[in-house]
Formats: sequence, C-alpha cells, structure tokens
Amino acid sequence: MLKENYETVEKKICAACERAGRKREEVTLIAVSKTKPVEMLKEVYELGERNFGENKVQELTAKFEELPGDIHWHMIGHLQRNKVKYLVDKVCLIHSVDSLRLACAISEEAQKHHCIVPVLLEVNVAGEESKFGISLEKAEELAEEAAKLPGIRIEGLMTIAPYVDDPEENRPVFRKLKELSVDIGRKNINNVHMTILSMGMTGDYEVAIEEGATMVRVGTGIFGERDYGKQQ
Ligand SMILES: *Cc1c(COP(=O)(O)O)cnc(C)c1O
Repeated sequence: MLKENYETVEKKICAACERAGRKREEVTLIAVSKTKPVEMLKEVYELGERNFGENKVQELTAKFEELPGDIHWHMIGHLQRNKVKYLVDKVCLIHSVDSLRLACAISEEAQKHHCIVPVLLEVNVAGEESKFGISLEKAEELAEEAAKLPGIRIEGLMTIAPYVDDPEENRPVFRKLKELSVDIGRKNINNVHMTILSMGMTGDYEVAIEEGATMVRVGTGIFGERDYGKQQ
C-alpha cells in the first residue's frame, strides 16, 4: 500500500510541475509521518524518501534515534520554547516560527550547540482563529527582527491552508503566500532568504505546486488516514 501511495503522490507531483512549467527538482516532498510507527517510515525510507515531517518534539526525537542518520527531519508543528533544546541539533528545518519569542529561544539554543538553525516563518494567510501563524501584515516585521538574531537563518515561509473540499478554494491562499515571499525577498533584508515556500498537504499539494510551492507536506496521501485513538 505504501509503495502504491508513494508512487501515486510522486506522479501527481510530476504532473503538477509539468502543468506549471516547473522542474521536478524544484519541489521537495516531505513525508509527514506523525502518529505512524517507525516500521512504516522505514518502508518509505526504503522507497528512497529522505525527508520526514513530524509535529511533536517527543515523537520526532524518538524516531530520530531509531531511524537512519541520513534522514532530513522537518519540524512542522507548533513549537513550545521550552522544547527547542531537544530539537536544534536534530532538525534540518523548523517550519513553524510564528513569534519573535520563539525565534529568540531557537537562537539561544543554536548558539549553545554552535549551529545555525534554518527556519521558516509560519503565516496564517487565511486568518483562521484556530490556527497558529503570524498574520500576513506582520510577517515582514517578524522577518526583519528575527533576522538580527545569531544562530538562525530565515529560509522562507510556510502556511497551513484551510481544510476545504475543493482544493481550488485554496489557490488564492497559496498565491498570497507566494506574493508575500516575493515582496519580502525584494527588500533584501540581511540574513533573510525567501527560497523556500512550504505549502500544500494531501488535499491540495498539486494546486500549491502550481502556485509555487517548493516543499509539500504530505501525510495521509502516503501513510493513509491517521488513527489518533491508537496513538502510542
Ligand atoms: C499533519 C500535517 C500535514 C499533513 O497533512 P495531510 O493532510 O495528512 O497530508 C502537513 N502539514 C502539517 C503542518 C501537518 O500538521
């Protein structure tokens, strides 16, 4: 099942790239493995996948210990400042920076570990109250302030689009995030790179790719539905 799912997602990514006149290499697939057992991650790893996304610190660090060292781990969920210390030397990218306070905490831990942590700013494009993320209006200011901190590098933007039945409904959301990244990029702020756009999930990643996503985060489409009842 995993192999079929994975190949289907891969085909759809290729087709979306083609429609958009983009190269397949411009888009990184992140296999979102939250709630799934390491056996399943191993299977997807064997198919060639090296980018995995988790939304809980404890789950990410546990899986980090059990799986091969050449995996790129992505922290895609809301992050509490007191948990940053467990993460900074294990993740390749934190997608969910939405406040200066969190950026400061990452900066402090990065300095302790003598590393540079690449981050994305999470933007709540649709302004949904139930979601984390900074508003479109405040994103640039956060980029400017966070960019001054040592030990962190701003690589781009991330958004979680609303849950919709028709993915076309999210096209304007993706377009707005792309526009914002172009706007911020044009400001040439020191230490701010707008090279990554993390947007699109199982329901809407093809539309996101058409609108310029460079990273898509696909969970259900690869691993199947999540059963939160049986979570360890
Ligand atoms: C769970 C999750 C995903 C993947 O969601 P699917 O709809 O299962 O593809 C993507 N991004 C974030 C931030 C998530 O928490």
